[in-house]
Amino acid sequence: MENDVVLRVKDLKTFFYTNERCNKAINGVSFEVKKGKTLSIVGESGCGKSVTASSIMQLLPDLSRIEEGEITYFGEQGEVRIDKLKKNGKDMRKLRGGDIAMIFQDPMTALNPVYTIGFQIRENLQNHMKMNKKQAHKRAVELLSLMGIPNPEQRVNEYPHQFSGGMRQRAMIAMAMSCNPKVLIADEPTTALDVTIQAQIFELMMKLKEEFNTAILLITHDMGVVNEVSDDMAVMYMGNMVESGGTKEVLKNPCHPYTKALLESIPILGKGRNQNLEPIKGSTPDPYQRPVGCQFKDRCNYRSEKCEEMPPEEIVQGEHMVRCWHWKEVLEDGK
Ligand code: SF4
Repeated sequence: MENDVVLRVKDLKTFFYTNERCNKAINGVSFEVKKGKTLSIVGESGCGKSVTASSIMQLLPDLSRIEEGEITYFGEQGEVRIDKLKKNGKDMRKLRGGDIAMIFQDPMTALNPVYTIGFQIRENLQNHMKMNKKQAHKRAVELLSLMGIPNPEQRVNEYPHQFSGGMRQRAMIAMAMSCNPKVLIADEPTTALDVTIQAQIFELMMKLKEEFNTAILLITHDMGVVNEVSDDMAVMYMGNMVESGGTKEVLKNPCHPYTKALLESIPILGKGRNQNLEPIKGSTPDPYQRPVGCQFKDRCNYRSEKCEEMPPEEIVQGEHMVRCWHWKEVLEDGK
């Protein structure tokens, strides 16, 4: 439903510039994130998924910028065009950490080593929620407890280096969730953690989504995670969205050769040990010297002359979108 959309990205183009060369890191990407739902963006490193997250948060590095497109946040106070806001202006700082929060692969990106965990959560609450110090301290302890951190009254006074990797990740989620964000962007949040902690962190995120109706944008390279936690998914390759739709539908009926290849390269739970795993052949092209036409053509088994031209987006059915000239063959082969 239209009014369930909290964040809309439309025809986004973000480019990087080095030595007079241009990398079109995101080259016309569109998607919507809905209240209480998780959208996963999946792809290999360099596909543009993290740049998408940084564009939304206005955390792009120097020598890169949003060239075209719209990023719209639908907040309680009305629509905000994020792409029009100043990177470090008052309005952007108010959104960042307040209505839109982000968790990173490395918690130390968000946590400051010289302040206690409690101080950092309190600061967020005092800035965005207008709490006094005492209220903020009480809430920080509650949040750590909610995240399953034992002895929160004591641990709130400890520094990040006194926490284990998994606990730091929880503390960062506590900080991100402290202001009840409407949108939580999670960029590979569990890649550095072991599988048990990984499962606990995802469980936690899903609980928060259900309790607070938070919209989650999950950036990952892991199809297993996509399958487990997301309602909708989008597959990115070389700065383009090549397939998107409801997770169940896309995983059941992949129509893009890249989605199919990603799925064939991972073991499927419950299918036993003798699965034929196929690594994806070749590697991604040099982003500064992109091929003409379909960006996947040098790795694709379905390639034809037509693929010298960039394929348009086509609707498979409902919200299932694909960008491939030969998607019908790919779909047929999967049946
Ligand atoms: S457009 Fe052509 S090269 Fe690209 S994915 Fe489809 S079949 Fe392969």
